[in-house]
Amino acid sequence: MSQARPVRAPRGNQLSCQSWQTEAALRMLMNNLDPEVAEKPDDLIVYGGRGRAARNWDAFDAIVRALRELENDETLLVQSGKPVGVLKTHADAPRVLIANSNIVPAWATQENFDQYERDGLMMYGQMTAGSWIYIGTQGILQGTYETLGALAQKHFGGTLKGKFVLTAGLGGMGGAQPLAVTMNEGVALVVEIDRARAQRRLETRYLDELTDNLEDAMTRVEEAKKKGEAKSIGLIGNAAEIFTELVTRGVVPDVVTDQTPAHDPQFYIPDGMNMQDAETMRREDAAGYQRRSMQAMAKHVRAMLAFQKKGAVVFDYGNNLRQRAFDAGVTDAFDYPGFVPAYIRPLFCEGKGPFRWVALSGDPQDIYRTDEAILELFPDDAHLARWIRLARERVAFQGLPARICWLGYGERARAGLKFNELVARGQISAPIVIGRDHLDSGSVASPRRETEAMKDGSDAIADWPLLNALVNAVNGATWVSIHHGGGVGIGYSIHAGQVIVADGTRDAARRIERVLNSDPATGVLRHADAGYAEARDFARANNINVPMLDESR
Ligand code: NAD
Repeated sequence: MSQARPVRAPRGNQLSCQSWQTEAALRMLMNNLDPEVAEKPDDLIVYGGRGRAARNWDAFDAIVRALRELENDETLLVQSGKPVGVLKTHADAPRVLIANSNIVPAWATQENFDQYERDGLMMYGQMTAGSWIYIGTQGILQGTYETLGALAQKHFGGTLKGKFVLTAGLGGMGGAQPLAVTMNEGVALVVEIDRARAQRRLETRYLDELTDNLEDAMTRVEEAKKKGEAKSIGLIGNAAEIFTELVTRGVVPDVVTDQTPAHDPQFYIPDGMNMQDAETMRREDAAGYQRRSMQAMAKHVRAMLAFQKKGAVVFDYGNNLRQRAFDAGVTDAFDYPGFVPAYIRPLFCEGKGPFRWVALSGDPQDIYRTDEAILELFPDDAHLARWIRLARERVAFQGLPARICWLGYGERARAGLKFNELVARGQISAPIVIGRDHLDSGSVASPRRETEAMKDGSDAIADWPLLNALVNAVNGATWVSIHHGGGVGIGYSIHAGQVIVADGTRDAARRIERVLNSDPATGVLRHADAGYAEARDFARANNINVPMLDESR
């Protein structure tokens, strides 16, 4: 049995695999487990509750061995974090195909998944954990910055200055919240039960201040609000308890949301428990824990509904908290909206979503060079330029240097080809990998999140992410993955990922152009088919061939 150990991706130009395609997969798998990147690297957990990069340490070692040996006309198949085969394919095929946590629909319950996991048959892949393209908290920072920016635009004239945002969860994803609020000039109070997590956000400069005391926290919030100062305060405590206490005190924040791990009731910490109690009960009485957790989530949502009734802008940030509360008897849990229909869908209609890239050299200068390339490519996009400048100033890299920005159909291929050209000319010192989150315009079916409240009622139809994965594989993405349950939990989503390597070759350029066009195009198709005028107009204007465009609703 292999043991847990610190893992860090190799840097520089020396290959330990047969090509940059396989080297990229190897480095990105390892980078997902870098102690600077992963939430619990010893357990192979990258982020999002128990989202893993490999099923166990033996499987990790076997994937590494297989990648080192993989030829350029072979493809490695990975089933829920375990390498299960190497097949002859061809040079333009993906080097790795990944399927994570997929269960036949009628069996796709949390209980069955937990049993399969205990039996060693599966792992939970989350979105970018099991598909090896997690880039630390920066990834979600951009999405959160975009969402809060859109919210500020809709409700507060474009800024959160002088506004109080209450939220919870400082984990791998939730940790982006305080910085995303201050980047939008607001005041954040973030409730987190685990001191170590909160401390980590302070150290990486995502969080400004930390306190154990609610009075103290509220005094700091009020002062910052009055001064119009951008500030984030972490408060050690339980969200269900603190939110309820604030309602009782008559406090009304301007904005309320949440990023505790509600997608997984075994990881949400019920009220009245410390971390140690939670761990013990989870181990000794999982069913009892689940009940306590569901009750706590009901309490948490009741408080959010109370804030909404008093005038706060309340939205769900995609962790399935409303569903848990609804299942625990809160019949009006869905009275507040999810963030996608409220703020993000217009972007999805243009294939716009979380485009990200990583410098395999490990050299931050390579990312700075790509930052400049983005600014040169899109000189008229002030919002994008602001993000790139702020990211450069405020974001500490975790693991291999990386960058993210939201780009749409057309823009992504231009950026990818430009990066490939910079690698070819030696202006970037080693290849760049280009990927994205699965939370993207065409790559996910998730009725409680990305596809909530679709215009034609197609929220739960999962043909779309499967088509997305198929076309990306056919077009030659370097690795392609199909997952179930990421973000919102088992039974609630099907989604797909792709990652492509820009190694400076002409072959890579051809693949990049195909993949980075077809990938966001599936998002435009999905939204055009659902009847969104923005997507239909965009398809027409960009010559995206939609056979029944004029007949679609
Ligand atoms: P995580 O497991 O890394 O972190 C969750 C954090 O919440 C932990 O630090 C934990 O200690 C804390 N926590 C648990 N119960 C709590 C409680 N009752 N009160 C206060 N703190 C509590 O998870 P993550 O990667 O940060 O993701 C959080 C959730 O947000 C997930 O459900 C994820 O799917 C969702 N999410 C949604 C989006 C999106 O769609 N925008 C993006 C990212 C994450």
